Amino acid sequence: MKLDFKELTETKAVVVVEGTNPSIMNALRQTLVSDIPKMAIEFVEFHLGPIRDQDGREYESISPLFDEILSHRLGMVPIPTDLDFFNFREECECEGEGCPKCSIMYVLNKKGPCTVYSGDLEPVGDSSLKIKEDLIPLVRLSEGQAPLIYATAVLGTGRNHAKWQVCHGVGYKYYPIVKINGRKCDKGASCVRICPRDVLVEGDKKIEVADLEACTLCMSCVEECEPGAITVEGDPTKFVLTLETDGSVTAQRALQYAMDNLVEKAEAFREGVSSLG
Ligand SMILES: [Zn+2]
Repeated sequence: MKLDFKELTETKAVVVVEGTNPSIMNALRQTLVSDIPKMAIEFVEFHLGPIRDQDGREYESISPLFDEILSHRLGMVPIPTDLDFFNFREECECEGEGCPKCSIMYVLNKKGPCTVYSGDLEPVGDSSLKIKEDLIPLVRLSEGQAPLIYATAVLGTGRNHAKWQVCHGVGYKYYPIVKINGRKCDKGASCVRICPRDVLVEGDKKIEVADLEACTLCMSCVEECEPGAITVEGDPTKFVLTLETDGSVTAQRALQYAMDNLVEKAEAFREGVSSLG
């Protein structure tokens, strides 16, 4: 298997994978979507009653939203997750009590009127756990409103809830093979114009492929041109994989974790079969 990274940022990867097959690519895609753990807010505690600030002004610990709606919005905030450090709560040495290895507590205390953003969540203890995506609006507070909220994040996977889904927009396509038989094409290059991804260009004497990897195998050019003038096929051993993460885990780490996870699953399956004797 050969990898060629076309794009790799903190949150996005586009990689050409060679020497594989659709089953493996689909298993990888499903693992990326459902089986990479991340931290997300699961428990939210709302303080009730009045709050007084240093100047003696009084606020009520409420917001204009129902607590359930605000809790849901808190749940969707991407929490920075070190996959080598955190444990699932039920598998942790604290036996589910909650400790720094399996939980992160955040405090939210803003005084209205203002807009509360994800960056206003303050981690208790380790400041490296501050929310990176800090401009997600959560709620707009009015005069006299100052909710005091304690929110606890725990590890989970996308299998249980979308808030624990690290990767989004995960997809793969067959690597395109575009062949042009220049002599047969005499339609005034309409195939160049009909391509929605600008894959083809009109060269000096014939049509040429300008951006092969942009091709989505839509076949518009094949249908537009003379029969046999252009052929478009997908290579069943070579794929373009695209994935994005929500920022809680980097794209590179997500890919690494997914591959390790697949190997572990295959190993467990092999052991299960071996134990039959
Ligand atoms: Zn623990």
